[in-house]
Amino acid sequence: MSFVARLKWFFKQQWLRYTIAITLIASVSMLTVIPPKLIGDTVDLIRSDSLTQSELREKVLILIGLALLLYIMVFTWITTLFGNSALLEKLVRGRLLAHMSRMTPGFYQRNSTGQLMALASNDVLAVGQTAGYGVMTLVNTVVGASVVMISMISLISWKLMVAALIPMPLLVLVITVLGRQIRDRFTKAQDSFGRMNDQALESISGIRVIRSYVQEDEDVNAFDRVTDDVIHQNQRVALIHSLFQPIISLIVGLSFTIGIGYGAYLVMEEVISLGELISFNLYLGMLIWPMISFGEFINVLQRGTASAARIDEAFMQEADVQDDAHPVDVKEPTSIEMKHLSFRYPGAQRDSLTDVSFRLEKGQTLGIVGKTGSGKTTLLKQFLRQYRLDEDSLFISEVAAERIEMEIVKSWMSYVPQEHLLLSKTIRENICLGKPHATDEQVNRVIEMASLAKDISQMPKGLNTLVGEHGVMLSGGQKQRVSIARALLMHADILILDDCLSAVDAKTESHILEHIRRERVGKTTLIAAHRLSSVSHADWILVLDQGRVIEEGTHEELLFHNGWYKQQWDIQQMEASLQE
Ligand code: ADP
Repeated sequence: MSFVARLKWFFKQQWLRYTIAITLIASVSMLTVIPPKLIGDTVDLIRSDSLTQSELREKVLILIGLALLLYIMVFTWITTLFGNSALLEKLVRGRLLAHMSRMTPGFYQRNSTGQLMALASNDVLAVGQTAGYGVMTLVNTVVGASVVMISMISLISWKLMVAALIPMPLLVLVITVLGRQIRDRFTKAQDSFGRMNDQALESISGIRVIRSYVQEDEDVNAFDRVTDDVIHQNQRVALIHSLFQPIISLIVGLSFTIGIGYGAYLVMEEVISLGELISFNLYLGMLIWPMISFGEFINVLQRGTASAARIDEAFMQEADVQDDAHPVDVKEPTSIEMKHLSFRYPGAQRDSLTDVSFRLEKGQTLGIVGKTGSGKTTLLKQFLRQYRLDEDSLFISEVAAERIEMEIVKSWMSYVPQEHLLLSKTIRENICLGKPHATDEQVNRVIEMASLAKDISQMPKGLNTLVGEHGVMLSGGQKQRVSIARALLMHADILILDDCLSAVDAKTESHILEHIRRERVGKTTLIAAHRLSSVSHADWILVLDQGRVIEEGTHEELLFHNGWYKQQWDIQQMEASLQE
């Protein structure tokens, strides 16, 4: 698809600014043909000794006036057109971010962070350049070249013009061949830039692990390899690009040679005057810029098209889960139920959940336990609607979850994941993420509930302490409790806690859980945990193994059952008493 087709929406939106800019560029091209004609005429007048002082003054004044007018026009089109470029970049970046925020995990599995960053930086830049600089070069070429050629024909000699332009078809051929190469090579260079981003991100975020395994040198070498590739790919683009200008100069030089040679002959034959030959050669000089412009246009257009295609590819990927065309209106989650739910991650070899069933009424608590990798997180994630579900396997208020609008389902849930994600803001901003206008009283309350008050009072700026990138200033346990406070502030109908107290000591954990239990009377809670004491109070407990429910019941029933739960409970009780 062409560049214009891909960006039709923008050209439509900004048609007025483009019309102004294009009209001005065209007018500038037209006005610049006047000075050479004036100079040629003046030479002829000097030669025939008929130039009067008033005529000379008049011509000089016209030239100065023209220069001023051109200055204003050029200033206006530059600001208008390049303003458009910047605006397009901003809009495309905004759209990209909005699109990415709607995407489900499958999208991020297919597109690495580095590649997405490359799209938002280099590719958006290339597209913006085409919409600004590209348009300028195109108009310059078309209008500039036609105006000069028309002037040559009408004011001097069409024969001389045809002769001087004989080498021009060569130019078209060269540009077509090189242009295609530029696009291919540029796409490869952008891919390589994306891979470099990935490597840099991984090195920086994994720096502690890399250091602890003394892998710094290997990491630097690996980075060297990707940057070498970036250089190599960009050199290949630069090589083709650098071939452009000399070839254009060569062809233009050939035109000049013919122009002067054949022109001199025409002067001798008295077909044209000396002044006309001078004007003609000035015009020929004025053709250089449109020709260079044409080369630049092809170059920028090819890069812009390659980048626009890469960006469109990301836009074309849809979220794995879409809303039902005719969603069912459900007011509140009165119950949640899984019926024989099986689930396999996209691209995985085996199911991560097999035939899981349970039912939870509003106000009840579900505990999920089991070995690492048994499917606890996977089970909880089903409520976040990130992956496609089998039909009729998950129900909320007796309605199949996929028939309820996703935004509504999400508004019922508060999820505290295993990996806590804190933003590089203050503690207060992190806690108030979902409820920016929460009152001090509400914030203090959740801080109490998450047993964070003491920690915060010891921080240099209390609630206004900045936590650093990903919360590096906080301990694992503090991060977990900030995440819990954040979720509790939402006071959601369904609270999902995914093993989010693992870095907190048992006593603090039981305090927090006690608070949560008291606070959430009448609301539904799902807790996955390693410590069985975290779920012992739950109304129903599932024990998972390899994605299957191997035991289920209340705490007492499971102890009575004398299976994995009982064994684990005994071990953990013994460990706890030893620690005490
Ligand atoms: P738990 O929370 O009990 O530790 P998980 O739900 O995280 O277990 O994982 C259950 C199984 O699903 C594991 O075998 C794991 O390897 C697999 N798994 C988890 N996430 C993915 C994923 N994104 N793609 C493929 N397999 C996954």
